[in-house]
Amino acid sequence: MSDAPARIAPRPLVHDGPARDDWLYTPLGEPRGYIEPHTLAELWFHTGTACNLACPFCLEGSKPGDRRIERVTFADVLPFLDEAAALGVRQLSFTGGEPFIIKDLVRILHHALAIAPVLILTNGVDALPRRLPSLRALRARPHPLAVRVSLDYADAARHDAGRGAGNFAKACRTLQLLHAEGYRVSVARQMAAGEDRARVEGDYRRLLRDLSLPADVNIVAFPDFGTPGAQPVVPHVTRTCMTTYQTEAMRREFMCAYSKMVVKIGGRMRVYACTLVDDDPAYDQGGTLAESLGRRVMLRHHRCFACFKFGASCSEAQGIEVTTRPPVATNS
Ligand code: SF4
Repeated sequence: MSDAPARIAPRPLVHDGPARDDWLYTPLGEPRGYIEPHTLAELWFHTGTACNLACPFCLEGSKPGDRRIERVTFADVLPFLDEAAALGVRQLSFTGGEPFIIKDLVRILHHALAIAPVLILTNGVDALPRRLPSLRALRARPHPLAVRVSLDYADAARHDAGRGAGNFAKACRTLQLLHAEGYRVSVARQMAAGEDRARVEGDYRRLLRDLSLPADVNIVAFPDFGTPGAQPVVPHVTRTCMTTYQTEAMRREFMCAYSKMVVKIGGRMRVYACTLVDDDPAYDQGGTLAESLGRRVMLRHHRCFACFKFGASCSEAQGIEVTTRPPVATNS
């Protein structure tokens, strides 16, 4: 496998049908901003919206038994892993729902870890600790497994208010267990509007120190994305916005510029533009990675505005890391 990800030749945007104008233009008729994907450095898999928790703010709307996005099997995922390997992917990542409730997960990871480093997102409650023994065999695979645990806030009361009593302590314990077993761990936190970023980060650093975790644990902050299907009123991202407030280098850091996400919807495996837009079929880019590559991504979804404003990204892969940057100053 080459170290360099495959370059993708852009191809004409094809998006026929009644929604065509809305896809390309804002309601005021301005051309929408867009991202031109330039590589497939990272591939995400959505393992399904079934979860062992039911947090009311979940951006995926995940909860026990949920089937909006279906659970994946090894057979579902295998063709995409192999196709990604052929394309020179550098990072494979898994999100849910709760990936650790997926029956085939260890088998999937065994295959994935022969291709590239793997990151899994988890709530760290019950399902992961139960499967820790079965993960040990994966330590001998060619690439490392890293785990990102959600800690919404650095204090138990605020975290447990959303996730359930006792779950802050469980997530912290899981971080300690993972670190003790040698896994690279990171933390996902919520980012409040207008927060004092330095103070919040300081609270997390103190917590990590108290848990005897490394001082350099990556903390990935996410703004409020709303729940699936929500239609918050946000400014439209126009082509002018993308050229006035963003540089070419900034546009290349949008997740949809270098990654895709595979989801199972309606019994079919589909490739979506990124991890944030699985509730809008316009972002379905095909049934294979080959079909999806090179397709221009129009910034129509309300979550695209969060990417524009905050640089929100799920990625933390080495070499393609994109962290949440200070908000872009606009008149919006
Ligand atoms: S949500 Fe962000 S990464 Fe996804 S398509 Fe919109 S701009 Fe791209």
